[in-house]
Amino acid sequence: MSDIEFITSWGEKIPVIITVRRGLRNITIRPRAGDDRHIDISRPWLSSNAAAMKFVEQKRRWLERFFKNAPQKQHLKSGDMIEFLDKSVRVIYDGTIRANKFVLNDNGFYTLFVGGDVRMIESRVRNFIKAELLKEIKNLIRGVPRDFWPRRICLRDTTSRWGSCSTTGTMSFSWRLAFAPYDVMRYVVMHELSHVKHMDHSPEFWAQVRALYGFGVERTKHWLSQNGAKLHQYL
Ligand SMILES: [Zn+2]
Repeated sequence: MSDIEFITSWGEKIPVIITVRRGLRNITIRPRAGDDRHIDISRPWLSSNAAAMKFVEQKRRWLERFFKNAPQKQHLKSGDMIEFLDKSVRVIYDGTIRANKFVLNDNGFYTLFVGGDVRMIESRVRNFIKAELLKEIKNLIRGVPRDFWPRRICLRDTTSRWGSCSTTGTMSFSWRLAFAPYDVMRYVVMHELSHVKHMDHSPEFWAQVRALYGFGVERTKHWLSQNGAKLHQYL
């Protein structure tokens, strides 16, 4: 491990690993996301670490954009709180139970008890959240006229889109919308439902979105563009 770090404008310290290669002509920079976030640099034998770091500094904007769009995953363990679908939920592992238990406490908070293999806590919580989100999406869809209803709904884990609507009638949503404010999730659903009538983003389409969603479409779109990447840091 190297002692060199790249410090982002939000204060995150990202380790930099510099490898010297004979025969290399240029300094190359490769940011790495995932659990082991770091930056790999290869530099020619005749250059220096200082020169490599100077190059990193020149690429700061690109590197920061990369790491912002691939936020560090927050791991979940028993006792942690997690927020989804506008609910604050404490996750408790209980090895004696088979099925999940979701309990509303007197103070308005929820507890989710998960059992099974202790190493599977995260995937069980993930599956629980997906099921809850799917229920909410179906509820929202039941609230609009039938001619907007999709044939099929599925959840995905895409980084590029929050929702999509195919010509065959399948509507897909990112399961990470569960971590957004409820109205943001509702906006994405109304957006996709509006595509059933308008497959474009014409003024008629936006009028349809406003008719289904109500007031505040612009504010919600703004929230997604500013905070959307953060929704990928959970689980
Ligand atoms: Zn659209």
